[in-house]
Amino acid sequence: MENCKTIIVIGGGASGFFAAINSAINFPNAKIIILEKTNHFLSKVKISGGGRCNVTNETLDKNKLCENFPRGKKELKQVFFQFNTKDTIEWFAKRNVKLITEKDFRMFPESNTSSEIINCFLNEANKYNVEIKFNKEVLSIQKLEPNFLIKTNDSDFFGDAIICCVGGFNNLGKYEFIKNLGHTIISPIPSLFTFNVPNSDITKLMGISKDVTVKLLQTKYEETGSILITHWGFSGPVILKLSSFAAIDLFNLNYSTSISINWINEKNESRILEQLNDFKNKKIKIGNLSPFQIPKRLWEYLVTKSEIDLMKNWNELNKKEIHKIIKILSNDIYVMNGKTTFKEEFVTAGGIDLKEINFKTMESKIVSNLFFCGEVLNIDGITGGFNFQNAWSTSFIAAKNVLLNK
Ligand SMILES: Cc1cc2nc3c(=O)[nH]c(=O)nc-3n(C[C@H](O)[C@H](O)[C@H](O)COP(=O)(O)OP(=O)(O)OC[C@H]3O[C@@H](n4cnc5c(N)ncnc54)[C@H](O)[C@@H]3O)c2cc1C
Repeated sequence: MENCKTIIVIGGGASGFFAAINSAINFPNAKIIILEKTNHFLSKVKISGGGRCNVTNETLDKNKLCENFPRGKKELKQVFFQFNTKDTIEWFAKRNVKLITEKDFRMFPESNTSSEIINCFLNEANKYNVEIKFNKEVLSIQKLEPNFLIKTNDSDFFGDAIICCVGGFNNLGKYEFIKNLGHTIISPIPSLFTFNVPNSDITKLMGISKDVTVKLLQTKYEETGSILITHWGFSGPVILKLSSFAAIDLFNLNYSTSISINWINEKNESRILEQLNDFKNKKIKIGNLSPFQIPKRLWEYLVTKSEIDLMKNWNELNKKEIHKIIKILSNDIYVMNGKTTFKEEFVTAGGIDLKEINFKTMESKIVSNLFFCGEVLNIDGITGGFNFQNAWSTSFIAAKNVLLNK
């Protein structure tokens, strides 16, 4: 059926390559062309995971996997039912790329370098005769029944079906050629950034990390995990996770809000008091004996912030001072003002409205034979390999369905 049909894949990134290779496997007689706007491919894969490429996350339960996507959680259930983490591991294993799991479930190629993934994709693309055309920025797509006319900066292409894998943009204007097809774009905003806390001495403690609970006071969001104090504020997994789940609220607050840190992950004041009982009788300087395994420098900072003399002995603290200690341990307030992103924004929240996509096939509900995959959709995950899993899963499904109506 697919004889002489042409599939145009727009974008030579993670989803573009995965879609092109799997389309070629599923439809061996079709011609597959990747149009990439730059003069290089797989650039994010190359730098991902600090050059190691965090390919996926060994969260095998599909419902739990979906929990890691602030946007797209519901829709991805259908997607992961068809292609999930286990399938990703198997797909790469079949091509002699072994993925290994770290303590926090993140999965990397055994060689610990993203070039292993890139080489795997290049070998596969070669093997299945996928054509890659560089410096072809798609500027418009026109539906000319029964096919499409795709105009780039310097030439035109015809395709029977299109898989659009252009990734996320931080600028609404870049989505224009998709909007012109009748699609709605949810305005892009950044996700996965760190918090700036100017005017706070805590930044002098840069390098200290601790398991904490962080609450964004003007929002409903609270997360527990590891925080890292930096020279500009706070980073670490708990902050990145909050930046992702609260991306819209933080954008609306202009990245200015109060943060409460519970340094000991215990809210109940009487339980904290109970745990401090052992310390209260000690004839040891408060600065020299920190409770709850708080790093010494952080403890000294917190005691000083509570306006308690570091030279005072624990057994000399009065009730008011003990109360101050409990407060600062469980509800230490900072003012966030601004955000910091690494290089470009790690991931874009926003993109094509999910209501306009059939998640059984990844086909547009507005234009038939047009498919969307990866970050161009209004789907984004937290760090840990989830964003690539979205790219692999959505492209695998598009590649299964791309020529079925042709
Ligand atoms: C620094 C960094 C590190 C990351 N690390 C990880 C990680 O370790 N694990 C993880 O899961 N996720 C990671 N991510 C996120 C992950 O890289 C993306 O979610 C993923 O690459 C999205 O894949 P995609 O194919 O949808 O988009 P992209 O990889 O962005 O690819 C889109 C491609 O389309 C091309 N393109 C765009 N517009 C056009 C056009 N009009 N015409 C033709 N071509 C076009 C682009 O040039 C690009 O090559 C990281 C992101 C960054 C920025």
